[in-house]
Amino acid sequence: MAEEVKNEKGGISVETQHIFPIIKRWLYSDKEIFLREIVSNASDAITKLQRLISLGEVRDLTFDGKITVSVSKKARTITVSDNGIGMDADEVKKYIGNIALSGAMEFIQKYEGEGEAATDGIIGHFGLGFYSAFMVSDSVEVRSRSYRGGDAVQWICSDEGTYEMNVPYDKEDRGTTVIMHVNDEGAEYLEAYKLRSVLEKYCSFMPIEIYFADEDAEEPKEGEEVPEEKPINDTMPLWQKNPSECTDEEYKAFYHKVFGDFNDPLFWLHIKADYPLNFKGILYFPKLTHEFANMEGQVKLYYNQVFVADNIKEVIPEYLLMLRGVLDCPELPLNVSRSYLQNNGYVTKISTHIVKKVADKLNSLFKNDREGFEKMWADIKTFCEYAALCDRKFYDKAKDALLMEVVHGGYVTLAEYLEGAKETNENTVYYASDAELQAQYISMFEAKGIKVVNFPQMIDTQYVQMLESVSENVKFKRVDSDIADALRGEGEAEHSEALEKLFREAAGNDKLTVKCEKLADVNVPAVLTLTEESRRMQDMLKLYAASGMNMGGDFAAESALLVNVDNPLIQKLADGAGDNAALLAKQIYSLAVLSQRRFGEEEMKDFLATSYDVLSKLV
Ligand code: ADP
Repeated sequence: MAEEVKNEKGGISVETQHIFPIIKRWLYSDKEIFLREIVSNASDAITKLQRLISLGEVRDLTFDGKITVSVSKKARTITVSDNGIGMDADEVKKYIGNIALSGAMEFIQKYEGEGEAATDGIIGHFGLGFYSAFMVSDSVEVRSRSYRGGDAVQWICSDEGTYEMNVPYDKEDRGTTVIMHVNDEGAEYLEAYKLRSVLEKYCSFMPIEIYFADEDAEEPKEGEEVPEEKPINDTMPLWQKNPSECTDEEYKAFYHKVFGDFNDPLFWLHIKADYPLNFKGILYFPKLTHEFANMEGQVKLYYNQVFVADNIKEVIPEYLLMLRGVLDCPELPLNVSRSYLQNNGYVTKISTHIVKKVADKLNSLFKNDREGFEKMWADIKTFCEYAALCDRKFYDKAKDALLMEVVHGGYVTLAEYLEGAKETNENTVYYASDAELQAQYISMFEAKGIKVVNFPQMIDTQYVQMLESVSENVKFKRVDSDIADALRGEGEAEHSEALEKLFREAAGNDKLTVKCEKLADVNVPAVLTLTEESRRMQDMLKLYAASGMNMGGDFAAESALLVNVDNPLIQKLADGAGDNAALLAKQIYSLAVLSQRRFGEEEMKDFLATSYDVLSKLV
């Protein structure tokens, strides 16, 4: 005689009915998380059973946890099955039909109207994960059989919150199957490739094996090889292992796989923070050759091996997002609002810890393998400078490993540079922004044994100012900003009205500042200089103009022409060079301009014409 099937109908409680439309509205932008929630529940159910087995409360020596996610576009269903602890009818009613809503309702009333920012993520936090299935479903069906045995149960709930329950239900195996009858909003997830990609995004590192199946796919024909079934996930991701047990090859392979980058990372750090921080992760330094190339890194945040989100600025300082990595923070109250995270003491501690680890890594690479570190510098320079600009704490911790590239070879730290400059240019760092253009100035410094460092990037301008602001008395000067004392020759130069007049006329600028100087390098007849302050002002205005901000007013910084009275050509001019004086002065002025900056169009034409003129005097 057939057993009597109890059929029960009900509503899942007034509050729940209220919550349905709210769930749909709030999570609309992020509907795909339903899959993460349902698969996480399946994973939890299996973990619970594993625990009971290990405690000896359940005897099952061959237990193999397994989750299957399948989709049928034809039947418009997405199904998640597990062989975990399962539920009996009472448990389904208790855990699923009657959600602990009081907290959630309060929260919703409090924040309603404040928009998504205040409320994102309430779902998981209040144990509403299961209900996220309704974002994509007209009705959700649960079939379950408890590990304790007894009757299996079927429970079907509509998106209005009314349910029907049938006990016993014909389900032989232990565990739970959740069948989502997909609505129009969820139609995209009925595409197998789409569903699979969402599954891979969130579940690639879940601790229980997950298999994916397209129910509509054709069965392999007779004689055809049946492809071996493989889980979509890696249940023991590298970050969970002990750093001492991981090989370089494993770190690289993990990087290639997770970030889809064929290049090898430069180096990495594996963090395992114990209680009370209790988080794990691997951070990789990718190659960052160009200043703006690849500034977008990617740091993936996980919660017990379940993917939560990329690049959560609230948890990891923004500048570290130039790196790539994975962080697993089981302690994080991830399901509450971002504004909450921002003011969370635990989050601040995590981020401080990570910054310290990154600085430690740089310091140890610098100390243990300076040569290797220098080789990498070009690739990590932008990151290091940006990090130092963003975070004084990072700078303080890492400063001993921060390098400056020396023009014509080598690298120095700021401290090393200053140490070497004591005799010649105490507390002043000379730098070039364009080593080719500024070659003449650079060689004048080098001839006196003064090192010139290379700061060619836009970020360097700000970096230099930051270094000045944190290091007392230290000044950075571009090589063309003034003539260092060390570059001057012996004695005072005599002032010559005639020379000054001659060069003002040659330059076609009667306001040009012309100064008679003695330069150590007698081969250089004249150089142009522009004070560091004026040039920085000019650079800043250019930057504002480029970003569309007009600061008003014209700031045309004028360079000064320094004429080297020890140079033979200048001496000839001073003695009166006859008919050719004007031509010579003009050419000397043009060459000084040429060694400082690029010519404009007219200047170039003029320079060539004058040069031909000069040549014609030689024949
Ligand atoms: P949470 O997972 O945050 O507790 P959910 O709404 O997702 O909230 O689930 C509510 C409860 O339903 C779970 O705590 C669990 O007891 C039960 N449950 C959900 N899915 C399953 C499943 N696949 N197997 C067994 N129990 C489940």
